[in-house]
Amino acid sequence: MEKKVNHHARLKSQRSLFEDLVKRRFVYIQTAEIYGGVAGLYDYGPIGTAIKNNLVQMWRTHFLLEDDINEISCTTLVPQPVFKASGHEQRFNDFMVKDEKTNEAFRVDKLIEDVIEKKLENPKKLKAGEEDRLKEIFATIGNINKGEDFDALVEELKIRNPTAKKNKLSKAYEFNLMFSTQVGPSGNCKAYLRPETAQSIFTNFKRLLEFNNGKLPFGTSIIGSAYRNEIAPRNGLLRVREFEMAEIEYFVDPQNKSCDKFSLVEDLEVRIFPREVQTSGKEAIMMKLKDAVEKGIIANSYLGYFIGRTWLFAHLIGVHPECLRFRQHLSGEMAHYACDCWDLEILTSYGWIECVGIADRSAYDLNAHMKSSGDKLHASRKLPEPRVFQVTEIQLNKGLMGKTFKRDNAEVLGLVNALTEAQKKELKTAIESEGKFALNDQFTLTKEMIKSVKEVTKTEQSEKFIPNVIEPSFGLGRIVYAILEQSFNFRENDKQRCFFSFKPQLAPFKVVLLPLINTKEMTQKVMDIETLLRKNGISCKKDIGTTTIGKKYARTDEMGIPFGVTVDEQTMKDETITLRNALSMEQVRMPIAELVGIVQRFMNDGDYTFENVKEKYPLFN
Ligand code: AMP
Repeated sequence: MEKKVNHHARLKSQRSLFEDLVKRRFVYIQTAEIYGGVAGLYDYGPIGTAIKNNLVQMWRTHFLLEDDINEISCTTLVPQPVFKASGHEQRFNDFMVKDEKTNEAFRVDKLIEDVIEKKLENPKKLKAGEEDRLKEIFATIGNINKGEDFDALVEELKIRNPTAKKNKLSKAYEFNLMFSTQVGPSGNCKAYLRPETAQSIFTNFKRLLEFNNGKLPFGTSIIGSAYRNEIAPRNGLLRVREFEMAEIEYFVDPQNKSCDKFSLVEDLEVRIFPREVQTSGKEAIMMKLKDAVEKGIIANSYLGYFIGRTWLFAHLIGVHPECLRFRQHLSGEMAHYACDCWDLEILTSYGWIECVGIADRSAYDLNAHMKSSGDKLHASRKLPEPRVFQVTEIQLNKGLMGKTFKRDNAEVLGLVNALTEAQKKELKTAIESEGKFALNDQFTLTKEMIKSVKEVTKTEQSEKFIPNVIEPSFGLGRIVYAILEQSFNFRENDKQRCFFSFKPQLAPFKVVLLPLINTKEMTQKVMDIETLLRKNGISCKKDIGTTTIGKKYARTDEMGIPFGVTVDEQTMKDETITLRNALSMEQVRMPIAELVGIVQRFMNDGDYTFENVKEKYPLFN
């Protein structure tokens, strides 16, 4: 039987070596490091940027191309009314506590979790029953959304400032996570840096629906930066104040939340962590998506479909299957807009981290923007049978009204248009009995202004409704971090020889080119192969320095370059090179003419391995 690996312990034990390499190779670094940096802001170096770009490209192919989802790009600076309507201004808050002496701030739920995790590390020191109580708090803390409930836990666990042990903490209070600013010099136009990209899809909904010929379902995505003024940013790229998101808003008819393509993923067996399992203190379970949807654990098959597609994507980018689970939000934990939500969590050295949120936002956002803006954000569906109904129609003498109401005429016409059926009937009675009808305190219609009021029969072929939206929301920084940690390794018996082993599609550079000796001919050959690879869209590096080949390979292994090509004397005779697999350090000999095809195969086919290459070409020692 295969030995069970404790991934968390492995990742944790090698974290400091990993962080050294990240810094040394400039994968990412604190922003403005030379000025001491700021918590929660990071710059990506060439390796980090290339991996992020490759990840985005894979994401576009996997999600957008597959489901014909269009992509738009919108500003990161968004006027205040948008986030007022969406509820973010009032409710996009976290609870914090402050050290009353030093003003040091803590996100209270995370502080409590940290204290519990520390206590649970030494179960022998705990009193009878304490371990169970701590586990219970840990499993249900996500449900808490009242300051006084956090205060009670801080009191119960006797929590003080962990960095200045004796200092007492304030009561818990809410802090809004949005960065606000002003647009223009007048100070009259408040705006926010977007905390999520989704709202710009909702505000453009009418045009997007038109673009899709008025038909549902359809999806739109935005890839770009989001900003959250986190109370306590920490753990590298995992909780930062500016990060990139890739979000899809998939609009569906609420009367038909059954996804046609669910059958493509329904047999996938996925690790899920439903809320009842969490609160009962048990472990996540493996379940077929089909069963989870049929049993109502996952609310509908659209959510099920995107959970399945996300599961496949995580495998595609090389996350270890045992380090993946979908955790359902507890009912008190859900964002103000969501009615069911599942997070893809990846196991990192810091524990399970939410990397993707897949939420059913129902009609919350479109409803909110429709109310606030007055714009019509409906879709319409054909009725099974035409609907025949009676309405009261009022014919107005518009000429007389124009003369009477002058500048106010448009407002008066608006008021008449807005009359309900009951009010139209009242109007008819009033005109017939009194010869006038008061629209409000200001405007009165006279019988001369009304040509007729009559009942007419109308037929409707379709009806209006507000679409529901399913939202898969990816945090790219967290995924990059998880991949980096999982791809980090070192050679057996030599912790100094660290390397990254990325999936070839994600690797920042695909090939390193080396001359065995620095002769003019071999160097020229390296440059010829470089031109050939670049022409074919394959990113590569060459290393023509005088260091030994072993040292050169150690250097490129640290950059996560999966393949090495060496030009040697044999190359000069027969146009063959050696191709080295960085992970296994095995080499084969092959013709230069076949190199591009092989590397492209690795980039396009996730199942192609070096074992396949070895079947075709002889091993070379
Ligand atoms: P949410 O809208 O809160 O569900 O967030 C969507 C995704 O954005 C999460 O799954 C994370 O991957 C990512 N994310 C949220 N907050 C942060 C943060 N402070 N730092 C990095 N990534 C974040």
